Amino acid sequence: MPKKPTSANRKKFLAKVREHLEEMKSKLLAEMSSAMRAEREGSKDEGMDTYDLASEERDREISFILSDRERNKISAIEDALERIDDGSYGVCEACGLEIGEERLEALPFTRLCRDCQQDQEREARTQRRPEDDRLAYRKLGSTENEEEGT
Ligand SMILES: [Zn+2]
Repeated sequence: MPKKPTSANRKKFLAKVREHLEEMKSKLLAEMSSAMRAEREGSKDEGMDTYDLASEERDREISFILSDRERNKISAIEDALERIDDGSYGVCEACGLEIGEERLEALPFTRLCRDCQQDQEREARTQRRPEDDRLAYRKLGSTENEEEGT
């Protein structure tokens, strides 16, 4: 399938998305560093009694978990920025068509257009069927036992 050239409007839109993503990222980084700073200052105020060491340890664990989640968010943003760079951003991975701008504004990290997303959701539902069949089969097989019981 020949790749459709990116229209001027689309380029403008992608530039807007990039700006938005970079803003999100720098805001997130600023939040993270200010949270870390507050934490450091907080532990300084408390004083470093040996008795505080256990909770120090626990706090560090909590902040590690938090920053892990933040890191995931940042990597999702970086991933989207990379895809803007290589031209794959905003193109549906399943059908190759451009994803609608409204959808991208609402879901900036999506890789599927609305139709393909719906298709996948439908597929996920139909893929559950064989299991239902097995359940029905098992039920059918168990009627024998039920007959024996009565
Ligand atoms: Zn699609």
